[in-house]
Amino acid sequence: MSMTQEEQQQLYEPSIEEMMIPAEKVAHVQVNNPLEHALLVLVKSGYFAVPVLDTSYKLVGSISKTIILDQILGLDRYEFEKLSDLKVHEVMERDTKSIRKDASFIEGLKTLIDVPYACVIDEDGYFDGILTRRAILKEVNKLYYHSFRPKE
Ligand code: AMP
Repeated sequence: MSMTQEEQQQLYEPSIEEMMIPAEKVAHVQVNNPLEHALLVLVKSGYFAVPVLDTSYKLVGSISKTIILDQILGLDRYEFEKLSDLKVHEVMERDTKSIRKDASFIEGLKTLIDVPYACVIDEDGYFDGILTRRAILKEVNKLYYHSFRPKE
């Protein structure tokens, strides 16, 4: 069975820009927010981690529930007062995975082998959005059905 024109068009390499969640729909926190605010964003959004941006919207890192809980854990109890004392930039993860908007589909896929999402940045480091495993897997699923499904 040969592919229809419509099926062939769907096989064109999807761009990172088409697949990403745009910045305005991404939950994020700012470097100077207290941990309390970051925890609120994480709990209310339900995400395990979100990007950290500076005041000019440049990507500087990411913060997760695990980092926060680890930071406030004292010797024999959680020290919840630390949630208002510590700022996001003091505890965040700095080497966050990022990818350029003009990167190829396969670069996006490789980046997401080890992490559930990567930040999409422009050439100056400004935050454009995130690329998630979900978006990549949706495209891989389409490719799989077009390429490997049994011929009828
Ligand atoms: P998903 O592949 O949709 O499960 O997303 C993977 C990860 O990407 C989530 O666990 C979050 O850390 C992050 N993520 C997904 N969507 C958003 C969003 N709208 N805002 C912030 N982070 C997100």
